[in-house]
Amino acid sequence: MTTENRGTVKVENGRYRVTGNFHYIYPNEAIRDADGNLIGVTNPRDVTHIHSYGGEAPFFENLSKGKLLGTKCANPKCDAHESIFIPYRIHCPDCLMRCEQIDLTELAQQGASVHTFMITERTGAFNTLEKPIRFVNVEFDGVSTILMGYLSVGEPVIGMKVVPIFQTKKPTYTIMDISWVPLGTVAEDLPEGFSF
Ligand SMILES: [Zn+2]
Repeated sequence: MTTENRGTVKVENGRYRVTGNFHYIYPNEAIRDADGNLIGVTNPRDVTHIHSYGGEAPFFENLSKGKLLGTKCANPKCDAHESIFIPYRIHCPDCLMRCEQIDLTELAQQGASVHTFMITERTGAFNTLEKPIRFVNVEFDGVSTILMGYLSVGEPVIGMKVVPIFQTKKPTYTIMDISWVPLGTVAEDLPEGFSF
């Protein structure tokens, strides 16, 4: 079974141009009980998903450059005017106006703290983070929302100060490109490819 000619996507004139294969099927196997009776089969499949980022694309692009973007409601008539959102919201949830993009990198470097956390060995399919994963909910001064992330160094404590680190050497262009470490962590202790 081969997976050559795996699917790729290019954009021409604002449209996806899809070439290659996005689905592969592999030979199945019988599942039998202790007496040799057929119980079922495995169905190995390999699927390439196309994940469109839409208006959130600048957020992921900027993670790869070591920047954390958020958004802000810039509508003076909105009750939530000047509210800052991270995760990056394209539209204000109160007035539905398109939000303004703002750079929160410096704020995160100064004033982020662990709101709460969760340590887990059970991570779900295709999660490639090292186990146990230390998920942290990160709180920023002056920001209305809380960002979910993962701690790469040390053990999480509620209220502990953390700073962002970014995968800028080999970015994946996903949320995995940002992680958190305790304030005061030295560069030599960061995971491979990550920098402040
Ligand atoms: Zn608004």
